[in-house]
Amino acid sequence: MKKRILITGAAGFLGSHLCDKFLHEGYEVLGMDNLITGDRRNIEHLFKREDFQFYHHDVTTFVHVPGKLDYILHFASPASPIDYLKIPIQTLKVGSLGTHNLLGLAKEKDARILIASTSEVYGDPQVHPQTEDYFGNVNTIGPRGVYDEAKRFQESITMAYHRYHGLETRIARIFNTYGPRMRLNDGRVIPAFIGQALRGENLTVFGDGSQTRSFCYVDDQVDGIYKLLLSDYSDPVNIGNPHEISIKDFAEEIIKLTGTDQKIVYEPLPQDDPMQRQPDISRAKEILGWEPKVSRSEGMQKTYDYFKGLTKEELHKSEHKDFAKHIRK
Ligand code: UDP
Repeated sequence: MKKRILITGAAGFLGSHLCDKFLHEGYEVLGMDNLITGDRRNIEHLFKREDFQFYHHDVTTFVHVPGKLDYILHFASPASPIDYLKIPIQTLKVGSLGTHNLLGLAKEKDARILIASTSEVYGDPQVHPQTEDYFGNVNTIGPRGVYDEAKRFQESITMAYHRYHGLETRIARIFNTYGPRMRLNDGRVIPAFIGQALRGENLTVFGDGSQTRSFCYVDDQVDGIYKLLLSDYSDPVNIGNPHEISIKDFAEEIIKLTGTDQKIVYEPLPQDDPMQRQPDISRAKEILGWEPKVSRSEGMQKTYDYFKGLTKEELHKSEHKDFAKHIRK
């Protein structure tokens, strides 16, 4: 009997790669998505398979799937600042009501559940690098608050189900991750810069570009999540790549990678934009025996190749400028 896993957010960037991974590992995969920010095309290649089923469903309403379930991965959520601004209430609901529904389903099916948490629970961190025992520095009422607080609530209710109901739960704190199938127009820095380079536009660095991020290639991220799900560890685990870079230096790397003759232009920093972010992954190393393997140059080359393969229409359908206008202080 194959193990059965439900993956919410299956048509999204991470969700779709997780579907591929678990099918590859011999699982039967039930993918669920309401397709608000997800894209059918990310999973279309799976529709012909007998070991894959797709449910077009919004997890903030009652979730039912027939048959047994061994595992649930809750990856449904908007996950970029542009989305939080456009659909703030849905962002709050999927992290809170959606998580509650899926915890209920896990309990009903006696399944283990892993929830996708985020480095955003640390807010604009005052501890660097971020360890799992840091409580964070979040502005509850800022533009990112809808995501950050939904994810913090998600962790709390997950631990409550674990402690009160004895449910088997796992919490992945996911740091910035990139790779093929990211949405070109989601406002995040990697699709933004690559899209700008491909369209022959200047690269927009927000602030003075001294803020840092640490980018993890999707294959490494998926591998970490897979190992965490199969571990017996229920406290949160950071999954990310500790190799940190400033956004300005990163823009310069992209100029080299793409060979664009465009320049860097500076725009105001969005409100509550974290100034530094780097995961401390000691816990993941120790408990999961996991650490990232893909270098940024290798991962970025693969990502660039993916974006180069998009059609002209896709490339020009960018909401990036609108986003920049709205998120300013
Ligand atoms: N950023 C930028 N130019 C852009 C888009 C983003 O300088 O066109 C910056 C953004 O202000 C942030 C960093 O890049 O400091 C990463 O942004 P992203 O939205 O990708 O992720 P997050 O802030 O959620 O880590």
